[in-house]
Amino acid sequence: RFAAPAADAGSGTAGAGTAGAGTAGAGTAGAGTEFRNAVDTDPAVAAHREWAKAVVGPGSGYVSVQAPEATRTAQIDDAVARAVAAQRAWAAVAPADRATALRAVARQLETRRTDLVAAMVHEPGKTVAEADPEVSEAVDFANYYAASAEALEQVDGAVFTPDGVTLVTPPWNFPVAIPTGGVVAALAAGSAVLAKPAPPTPRCYELAVEATVAGIAEVADQIGLDPQTARDVVQFVRVPDGDLGQHLVTHADVARVVLTGSIETAEMFAGWRPERPVLAETSGKNALVVTPSADLDLAVSDLMKSAFGHAGQKCSAASLVILVGSVGDATTETGKRFRRQLVDAVRSLDVGVPTDLSHVMGPLTEPATGKLERALTTLEPGESWLVKPRRLDDAAKAAGIAPERLWSPGLRDGVAPGSFFHLTEVFGPVLGIMRATDLDEALRLQNQVAFGLTAGIHSLDDDEIATWLDRVEAGNVYVNRHITGAIVQRQSFGGWKASAVGPGAKAGGPNYVAQLGAWADDAAVV
Ligand code: GLU
Repeated sequence: RFAAPAADAGSGTAGAGTAGAGTAGAGTAGAGTEFRNAVDTDPAVAAHREWAKAVVGPGSGYVSVQAPEATRTAQIDDAVARAVAAQRAWAAVAPADRATALRAVARQLETRRTDLVAAMVHEPGKTVAEADPEVSEAVDFANYYAASAEALEQVDGAVFTPDGVTLVTPPWNFPVAIPTGGVVAALAAGSAVLAKPAPPTPRCYELAVEATVAGIAEVADQIGLDPQTARDVVQFVRVPDGDLGQHLVTHADVARVVLTGSIETAEMFAGWRPERPVLAETSGKNALVVTPSADLDLAVSDLMKSAFGHAGQKCSAASLVILVGSVGDATTETGKRFRRQLVDAVRSLDVGVPTDLSHVMGPLTEPATGKLERALTTLEPGESWLVKPRRLDDAAKAAGIAPERLWSPGLRDGVAPGSFFHLTEVFGPVLGIMRATDLDEALRLQNQVAFGLTAGIHSLDDDEIATWLDRVEAGNVYVNRHITGAIVQRQSFGGWKASAVGPGAKAGGPNYVAQLGAWADDAAVV
């Protein structure tokens, strides 16, 4: 579903009204027609509409988005008012009927798989190999939380009241699975949802919301839902960050905010909403430990997936590998072999735009600045490059994407305890090597980090594995497996320590839906 090239569509004339099509060609024309969102369709609001600047997808260089963006607080207030009205009707739908709707959402997502994958290739620049499982994850969330909705009814002697209007603000790195997870969980609980996309990936989120709205519409008659509620129970609200974003996040009628994003954003939101719920999954600085007993071939291949999948732009990514004993000692056969394999593997990663399917690593979604730029360009004392990252300007230019977005992966050796690269999340394609004399020291290095999101060990020694599992401080721990790509229900996802703000059950696991509301004993309800 690629729209017209940037030269044609960037003119700011993409104002074809509720069709959502603009001048961007037939590719997107159909998508917006059945989808209604508050900012877009209300005539009073439309009078104020100013079309957003188009977003240039780094994955393809094409303009992707025609969704309007709110320009004034009245639009936001209107969307919230609709949500409040829809909330009452939706909360009155029996949980089993909400589950029926969510299973229809899962089917709608599945039938739109190709569109969703294309949008993810296009906007954040994901490879198809990364984007396709993300659709599956979204489908899994809808089915899993459908079952969670049913379970709400099976708790004896207690009555569940949903939070109320819920704002779901996901990140751009998983622009289909994470928003869908947040949206369907809130729906399962009985809350109406406002869905705010991350600025670089509005089209991905819009498509996911379209599928959700379509699923609800499909079963509305069957579950006795009026058309107005079916339309308004989930609204896509493209609101820019800044004052308007703050207006939405702090709105008196937004009962809960569900955020996945940086620790800085989570703390800002929590500060804006003292005493009111914010559920946030935040940053990580994750390490994978490799001991001498490990299957080293498997460790190398799992490191490639964990460190360089989606160019390392995952909270769950492996940013560090901690080599224990001989694995990190290049004077031993084991150490020499491991180092050679690791360097070869990093060098062999084919980097480029994901529209060429031979590329296993795509571009950065946003240009490298700040911490990531430092990680890609600057060594700290005692460090050296085993593979130096390069800016691939020519390839970027040939593909029509901004040069600062295409980088080859980096491997930095000699990361020192307590240093910048040891402790800081950089969110990009750089893997740092640390060394430990034994598992104790490896655990100390791993746990010294403020975050606690994912962690891994490669070891074939049961005692080592047991010790490590007992002591590692992370929400998701993986043994002899890559450390990204948690699977709904099998590996519910969430962090410890600075990787989470606000108490909360893990996404895709037990009690996630049950925490999105209040429980009262029957006896206490008069
Ligand atoms: N759930 C994703 C995974 O397991 C990570 C999500 C994120 O990066 O926020 O890899």
